[in-house]
Amino acid sequence: MMTLTLHNTMTRTKELFVPGDPNRVTMYVCGPTVYSRPHIGNARPALVFDVLFRLLRTLYGEDHVIYARNITDIDDKINAAAKESGRPIGDITSEFADNYRADLGALGVLPPTIEPHATAHVGEIIAMIEALISSGHAYEAEGHALFSVSAFDDYGKFSNRNRDDMIAGARVDIAPYKKDPADFVLWKPSSDDLPGWDSPWGRGRPGWHIECSAMIEKHLGETIDIHGGGHDLIFPHHENEIAQSRCSHSGADLARVWMHNGFLTMDKDKMSKSTGNIITVHELSQDHAGETIRLAMLSAHYRQPLDWSDDLLSQAKSTLDRFYGTLDNLSDVDVPAGATPSDTFMSSLTNDLNTPKALAKLSALCKAANKVDDNDERARLKGELLTSGAVLGLLQDDPSSWLKGGVNDDDAEIDALIEARTAARANKDFAESDRIRDELAARNITLEDGPDGTKWRRDS
Ligand code: AMP
Ligand code: ZN
Repeated sequence: MMTLTLHNTMTRTKELFVPGDPNRVTMYVCGPTVYSRPHIGNARPALVFDVLFRLLRTLYGEDHVIYARNITDIDDKINAAAKESGRPIGDITSEFADNYRADLGALGVLPPTIEPHATAHVGEIIAMIEALISSGHAYEAEGHALFSVSAFDDYGKFSNRNRDDMIAGARVDIAPYKKDPADFVLWKPSSDDLPGWDSPWGRGRPGWHIECSAMIEKHLGETIDIHGGGHDLIFPHHENEIAQSRCSHSGADLARVWMHNGFLTMDKDKMSKSTGNIITVHELSQDHAGETIRLAMLSAHYRQPLDWSDDLLSQAKSTLDRFYGTLDNLSDVDVPAGATPSDTFMSSLTNDLNTPKALAKLSALCKAANKVDDNDERARLKGELLTSGAVLGLLQDDPSSWLKGGVNDDDAEIDALIEARTAARANKDFAESDRIRDELAARNITLEDGPDGTKWRRDS
């Protein structure tokens, strides 16, 4: 089997990926906090880890990969959104969880194998906190449960931070009940107007970090193969997940490989809800095909920053137009049974998900397919193109409808005009056929006459 190398944030090197059990490869990615629609920056981890999910399924078999991406449906920002809108919290979280699935589904992101909700795991969360308190890694103070960072020698190692950085970076409250200002919340009290659960420390709600540790333990086990998220999660979120989970599991590693995507900017500014510099996936999907957005995202390596722009989208669209043009020209040959992705494509993708290189290999496959005449070779290349494309979640549309710009209201009218032009040509009425061609050109429709009739595409 082809080997896979992945960059591990823990060791800051690229390593050969060796799962604990190749029949049960486990991956956890921190999912959305559901109080607003995802912006295109939030879509980056979803898309990057969707490609990794597809690649792992290709390498290990579909039934051997378990991918969990949680829904954070307990959070102070959700409570604030509910208060502001006067709507029940459960309505808000289920609406935005549905939007998240729909918006990412439009980009071809596969549903994860498991989608655990924090609110459904409060029992497990309380049990984990109780165990941490009994083993001396956490303590209760004024209705809170706090993790005691001095009880974990490795605290700060993962994110490579010293104490002062950690206190500043975490913006932790220097609350009087904390033994150490770097100690972080596992449980906090809820006032009557806020969601809360009964616990040994009174009515309250869990902190964000412990939710992930408890859901990972329950669904995937003590040590998982891959843990992912955006690089802003390295500290404090992942540092704290590691502290909680390792102290609950006699020091066992939480993940074999830690992966973090770089940040997406717009006009070179960080895209984030707090600065308001955002475009939502939903807005983008009104004007661009899902695969165009997807290819634009995958045109940069996942660890690099990516500046989002209209230019990036139009480049992605013209690349896809070329790919679909090739596939359209191959419409007369069938994909051979048992077709698989090309080796050179796979060797790029298995090198720490080098999507820019993998896309260049797809271009090379198209160039080769455009050149050859032999039908067996054309069929073989078509098989490689489609199966390679599928690992990236691309080239899954029908080529002729892609080239027509998707299904548009005037498609039937264009087909009728083309038929009229064909009839005019058959009658040698070239003035009329040229007139129709010009009329279509004015509507950005380009015609291509071939042995099987006239094909058309819509230029942007
Ligand atoms: P949030 O819903 O804000 O917790 O974010 C969900 C995921 O999106 C996390 O993995 C973040 O790291 C990631 N994320 C948020 N903003 C960006 C961005 N501008 N670029 C890349 N990833 C981001
Ligand atoms: Zn998490």
